[in-house]
Amino acid sequence: MTGTKLNIGRRGFLKILGAGAAALSATAMGLSTAEAQVAAAVRPYKLLRAKETRNNCTYCSVGCGILMYSLGDGAKNAKPRIFHIEGDPDHPVSRGSLCPKGAGLLDMIHSHNRLTHPEYRAPGSKEWVRISWDEATTRIARLLKDDRDANFIARNDKGQTVNRWLSSGMLASSAASNETGVLDFKFSRSLGMLGIDCQARLCHAPTVSALAPSFGRGAMTNHWVDIKNANVVMVMGGNPAEAHPVGFKWVIEAKMKNKAKVIVVDPRFNRTASVADIFSPIRAGSDTAFLMGVVRYLLATDQIQHDYVRAYTNAALIVREDYSFDDGLFSGFDEKTGGYDKASWTYERDAEGNALRDASMTHPRSVLQLLKKHVDRYTPEVVEDITGVKKADFLRIAEVIGTCAAKDRTLTWLYALGWTHHTGGAQIIRGSAMIQLLLGNIGMAGGGVNALRGHSNIQGYTDLGLLSTRI
Ligand code: SF4
Repeated sequence: MTGTKLNIGRRGFLKILGAGAAALSATAMGLSTAEAQVAAAVRPYKLLRAKETRNNCTYCSVGCGILMYSLGDGAKNAKPRIFHIEGDPDHPVSRGSLCPKGAGLLDMIHSHNRLTHPEYRAPGSKEWVRISWDEATTRIARLLKDDRDANFIARNDKGQTVNRWLSSGMLASSAASNETGVLDFKFSRSLGMLGIDCQARLCHAPTVSALAPSFGRGAMTNHWVDIKNANVVMVMGGNPAEAHPVGFKWVIEAKMKNKAKVIVVDPRFNRTASVADIFSPIRAGSDTAFLMGVVRYLLATDQIQHDYVRAYTNAALIVREDYSFDDGLFSGFDEKTGGYDKASWTYERDAEGNALRDASMTHPRSVLQLLKKHVDRYTPEVVEDITGVKKADFLRIAEVIGTCAAKDRTLTWLYALGWTHHTGGAQIIRGSAMIQLLLGNIGMAGGGVNALRGHSNIQGYTDLGLLSTRI
């Protein structure tokens, strides 16, 4: 074997090992090598004849890799049946791990409660009756067609062609493939259906509202595996140790390899908090005040990365003179409509339309100075008053966060629906984005603002944008 490189995967190795073990015991019984090899074939490795299919766990957004083993040789009338599922050791995020939800997938597949065929309940009846797929699709198509024929609007009152169908709608999944999502959209839109929405909006709409304007895209900025590079892991509005258990091992890896500090600020002492270095309870929904307090602390103690902030953020740009913020209202507020005219919410421009900038970031109307003025009210005392986070705890946490305003240190921010399901969810997430930009932690290994999604393809459906507002 000298000079020969063995190109063998883990699965192949196990197969050989299974056959080899049997061969060894057969040799020990006095059989020749050839006979031993035949004996080995009598009891092969249990997965040897199984068909191996790669897939992803159907539950959370960690998307752990799974290997599914089924029997059935493909012969006519032979029905394959999955009899074993295990973690895929080659998957880059899960590396063979599965949490109890993923490890129990086999039970879910074979559960008696699993609906594997269409059922129909007649009006007024309590009974569900099994029907064929043909009956189901024919009935659904019939009902849709009847409704569309009766309610389709070809032209509006002004005689303009609109081709709308408003009386039926569609709610798309976020646990299906991107291809399914594209078909959902084509199906509903080609029929003129306007009422289309998807689970991704329910879970993470504020993520898109906050991260898209901040960074150009409404997605977690970094990768699960990248969390291992963080020096500080800040968790608010989420409980990844329980909700994303396999992804959370990268937090543990950061703790082990970088001695990363894990900080949890959450109304509940949850499982993530149980392995955190610092935990502070917070009044539910008051996260924005906490984050603005951190922004104030970083600016007051000058713990920001100046070069980064100057080069990669809008902090040096000069805002229009007629922009203001008084008594809780921004300029342009219309009392009658309760809305804003946002014309003043932009930058001073030169003759060519370019925004004016002050590289020193000291101009009183530079974004940085206006931000400083805006957050000045969030002193540690005010933060304690609004959020319930004790002043001493707040300062301890802010101090650790401030250590990441250095070129060789990064903080990663993890959040989930504990942030997105507030009416001010977009503002909360924007707050963390501002802190990360001040620290110079965006676009850096171990940094970012990481939206932890609930379903296996929330991100895919978010990117597709299956929304009523999109044509
Ligand atoms: S962590 Fe998420 S994707 Fe992985 S096994 Fe558990 S539920 Fe499935």
